[in-house]
Amino acid sequence: MEADRRGESSTISLSPSPAWPQWPIADERTLAALQDVLDSGRWAISGPLNDPAKYGKAKEQQFAEQFAEYCGARFCVTMDHGTSALIAALEALDIGFGDEVIVPGLTWIAPAIAVLSVNGVPVMADIDPATLCISVDSVAERITRRTRAIIAIHMYGCMADMDALRALADKHGLVIVEDAAHSHGAVWRGKKAGTLGDIGVFSMQHGKVLTCGEGGAAITDDPVLKERLEASAWNARCRISEAPALPFSMGLTEGLRRFGTNRCLSEFQAALLLDQLPRLDGQNTVREHNARYLERELSEIPGVITMEHPSQIDSRTYYGYVIRIDAQRFGCTAAQLILKLQLVLGMGDFMLHPVYKPLYRNPLYAPHPRRHGALGEAYTRALDTAEIMLPGCELVYEQAVVFHHSVLLASMEQIARVVEAVRTIYFEQQ
Ligand SMILES: *Cc1c(COP(=O)(O)O)cnc(C)c1O
Repeated sequence: MEADRRGESSTISLSPSPAWPQWPIADERTLAALQDVLDSGRWAISGPLNDPAKYGKAKEQQFAEQFAEYCGARFCVTMDHGTSALIAALEALDIGFGDEVIVPGLTWIAPAIAVLSVNGVPVMADIDPATLCISVDSVAERITRRTRAIIAIHMYGCMADMDALRALADKHGLVIVEDAAHSHGAVWRGKKAGTLGDIGVFSMQHGKVLTCGEGGAAITDDPVLKERLEASAWNARCRISEAPALPFSMGLTEGLRRFGTNRCLSEFQAALLLDQLPRLDGQNTVREHNARYLERELSEIPGVITMEHPSQIDSRTYYGYVIRIDAQRFGCTAAQLILKLQLVLGMGDFMLHPVYKPLYRNPLYAPHPRRHGALGEAYTRALDTAEIMLPGCELVYEQAVVFHHSVLLASMEQIARVVEAVRTIYFEQQ
């Protein structure tokens, strides 16, 4: 009915369609997983288990082991958010006051906020409009003697050039935090996303392709970094080595003498992740198939620019399906196209939206979170973004149209309607 009415009020007539897929996806199995946590009596890894023989390892530990194995990493440390995992990664790598960390100038704010959280200086590099990922040339131009790290982010359906970034990092003695919040399961030259940096970071927030509502994880092969990540996430505690044998035993105990705060993932979230992880590869395959179809069809329309995919990517994942609109050739801007498509296809802004604002003028990015006193005057100045202007970020901000990944889980008929709608809008403008 809803779709019918929208169809009538629009100049474009498309047949009414079934609803777009929901995200996240849950079923009876999900409910049973949550019920199991309720019954176990342990709602947090820092809480006691009342029947160890029946419930065994914490859900959190089960997920950490499964996710490490899935990624091909030695260790996984879970967290309450991806942002927490980024902060913990920087802490584990000893990034601190005044250290420069290079981040892309257009992405979600979390990486830059994480750098500010350890009193570092986020240095914004430009992105490559063809992939939306950080430009290696721009990174190279921004390396100074204060640079300590690069946060490489795989954006939407693409991956940052990890080979070139690794070569650059090695040359200058830098570490790489690989933010794989958009790309659970993507593969770069045989290696899963998250295993290409010194520490790989994931978000499991509501919109991500693997989700428990709010959650995160960091993965690494380095046992020292793993211990530090745990300390950082668990108030300096560490896991007791064996699953507790006695009722009401705690899962965490005193650990390293190191700064830590509470970033624990709850057992409910871990249970959701255990339920969702086995679905990930199947969903990624469907999304990749539909994205390739969209790419073939949409690239035929004048003024629509589809994303480039470096040949090193063996397996793509899509947090978002992105096209760019050359307004001159297409006939209207990306922003206008988004509004028209929302109306015609009945998509809310969770499903179809513009790209992030460039960081240096993003209202969510406030570079003066706390007072730094006399010691911090130079630091405060280093955070000033007033002079920053990155042409690649500006171009992408103007041109990008982002479909949320749930759209790629729709039926073939639904996906074909997206193509039809873009084509029709193009012809209307001519
Ligand atoms: C979502 C996201 C994060 C982390 O987000 P949380 O909401 O804290 O889990 C980090 N980096 C990128 C690129 C993201 O999209």
